Amino acid sequence: LQPVPSDIAVSRAQRPKLITKLASEIGIAPHELEPYGAYKAKVSLDVLGRLEHRRDGRYILVAGITPTPLGEGKSTTTIGLTQALSGQLGRIAFANVRQPSQGPTFGIKGGAAGGGYSQVIPMEEFNLHLTGDIHAITAANNLLAAAIDTRMFHEDTQKTGPLYKRLVPAKKGKRTFLPSMIKRLQKFGINKTNPDELTEEEITKFARLDIDPETITWRRVLDVNDRHLRGITIGQAPTESKIAPRATGFDISVASECMAVLALSTDLSDMRDRLGRMVVASSRAGDPVTADDLGVAGALATLMKDAVKPNMMQTLEGTPVFVHAGPFANISIGNSSIIADRVALKLAGTEPEEDAERNDKVGFVVTEAGFDFTMGGERFMNIKCRASGLVPDVVVIVATVRALKVHGGGPEITPGAQLHEVYRTENVDILRKGCVNLAKHIANAKSYGVNVVVAINKFETDTEAEVQVIREEALAAGAEDAISANHWAEGGKGAVDLAKGVISAAEKADASKFHLLYTAEPSKTTSTDAAAAPAIQDSAIYQRLLTICRDMYGAATISLSPIAERKLATYTAQGFSHLPVCIAKTQYSISHDPALKGAPSGFDVPIRDVRLAAGAGYLYALAADIQTIPGLPTAPGYLNVEIDGKTGEIDGLF
Ligand code: ADP
Repeated sequence: LQPVPSDIAVSRAQRPKLITKLASEIGIAPHELEPYGAYKAKVSLDVLGRLEHRRDGRYILVAGITPTPLGEGKSTTTIGLTQALSGQLGRIAFANVRQPSQGPTFGIKGGAAGGGYSQVIPMEEFNLHLTGDIHAITAANNLLAAAIDTRMFHEDTQKTGPLYKRLVPAKKGKRTFLPSMIKRLQKFGINKTNPDELTEEEITKFARLDIDPETITWRRVLDVNDRHLRGITIGQAPTESKIAPRATGFDISVASECMAVLALSTDLSDMRDRLGRMVVASSRAGDPVTADDLGVAGALATLMKDAVKPNMMQTLEGTPVFVHAGPFANISIGNSSIIADRVALKLAGTEPEEDAERNDKVGFVVTEAGFDFTMGGERFMNIKCRASGLVPDVVVIVATVRALKVHGGGPEITPGAQLHEVYRTENVDILRKGCVNLAKHIANAKSYGVNVVVAINKFETDTEAEVQVIREEALAAGAEDAISANHWAEGGKGAVDLAKGVISAAEKADASKFHLLYTAEPSKTTSTDAAAAPAIQDSAIYQRLLTICRDMYGAATISLSPIAERKLATYTAQGFSHLPVCIAKTQYSISHDPALKGAPSGFDVPIRDVRLAAGAGYLYALAADIQTIPGLPTAPGYLNVEIDGKTGEIDGLF
């Protein structure tokens, strides 16, 4: 329709096909499908075993240029491109996207289902509970939080003997260790099977975690933008008065490390192991204390046993979509799950006997990285691909005329305000200047050895001359192609040229050229003794931070705060210096400073803090003041939400 109706009107006007029908179309066996109602389902990981022999489908990453606060259409392009590959060009194609957090849905809306005629449907399901994965993460996160405080409570109030006896209960006359304790024993190199053979010294080591309350990093979570929970004090009831109350706080559920673990696990047993490796505090002796030490990781994995299975939905044109995991992009990787990608790549893959005709038969998995290429794409490569071993065939960089004009010197864009004239009328000079931002993202993506295609997400006000400028600049910067796409207004039909360009770039992909930005070598020296410790600049973590800031962002130097230096030394000493690093910073500049538009260079990136996500498998460095639980504005989104008592139709969610 012209003009294009609102996103919700488009979404409602289309009746989705039954999820059972969609599953059979793409080769999912009935026993591998777990429907949740008629239009959404979980897919069992058994698919991976059944299709293990297949060569994977093509793996396409959609990333973007540095955006405006309005969003430049990455999700819309992910969906539109998938619709074109499938509906118009007849390939099996999956869009793999993140599950949005419920918190912002009722606060300041950050729609993630795409838009116009390129959306995931049903939109209400997508934006609300879906199949409960975020609730499962909340439950797991908070069980671990309870385990920490409860353990400290019991250690404080019981002598080692009784404490130990409770951890090793008698089992029908035969005393054995609880299964959850075995990992902890192994950590101390204790391989005894009979608990009665443990020496006093071993019992002391094993039974007491001796958590230093000052070092607890694990917080509670909730999927509500409740800013008043940012800082709280726990343990204030008389029943807990034997130990001191403790200051802690809440994060939004998707910021939980359990969510990052879900995104980065390769299968269920990997998820179990990662949950066990999550570090929650240090002991008073300075050793890391993990979820396995608390004996709770088996229970966490049990709570997340269904969350590990990807959720299948569909696009407006009936193409499959996996919605799985949604780590908080501000501090985490902001990508959907490795498991969903692995399942989709097998379903889109080819049988060995099809090798000769592979180029004509192979299917596509299109996934999206949060934020721009230089932030989301860099994390996708160095954290997600490092963990999965998967190699993308093509990077699609979504660009818009309006955002490039901002980088060329146009005024800031404020959501809700009327767009300045420069964004509504042709201005090739400002646009051409702003293309330095696009060029930098192209160069960054190409530095991994992958082919780049630029998708120019077409807005009504774009002119032919403007599209031509972007094309010229993109090709000059080394893109394989730069193609204007109108999928927002036309659905898959509007992205056929883009899809053809992506297919052609994928056929030219050479996986042997792919390489990551840095290695996972640990620091050579790990001493924390000031005299023996190497200069901070020689540490592997410091060098990794510098490499990302210099080679990706264009910085000259980095400066660590005293706390960041101290944490870096601690994590090095504790054996975590091999981990990749996720840098948390603004999305509105390639640099750490939102005021620096275009492609700035020569600046210094201040690193305020370094934190550990040992189970997810990365360190994160804060180059900005990042809120881990958002607040609600004066007029929150929930003011508009109403439900029709007769039809159940929801109004005002989007
Ligand atoms: P991103 O994923 O980059 O944040 P989205 O795909 O979510 O961006 O799009 C942001 C908003 O812009 C959505 O409301 C979408 O409907 C709208 N939008 C995207 N592309 C276009 C377009 N070409 N014309 C008009 N509106 C668009």
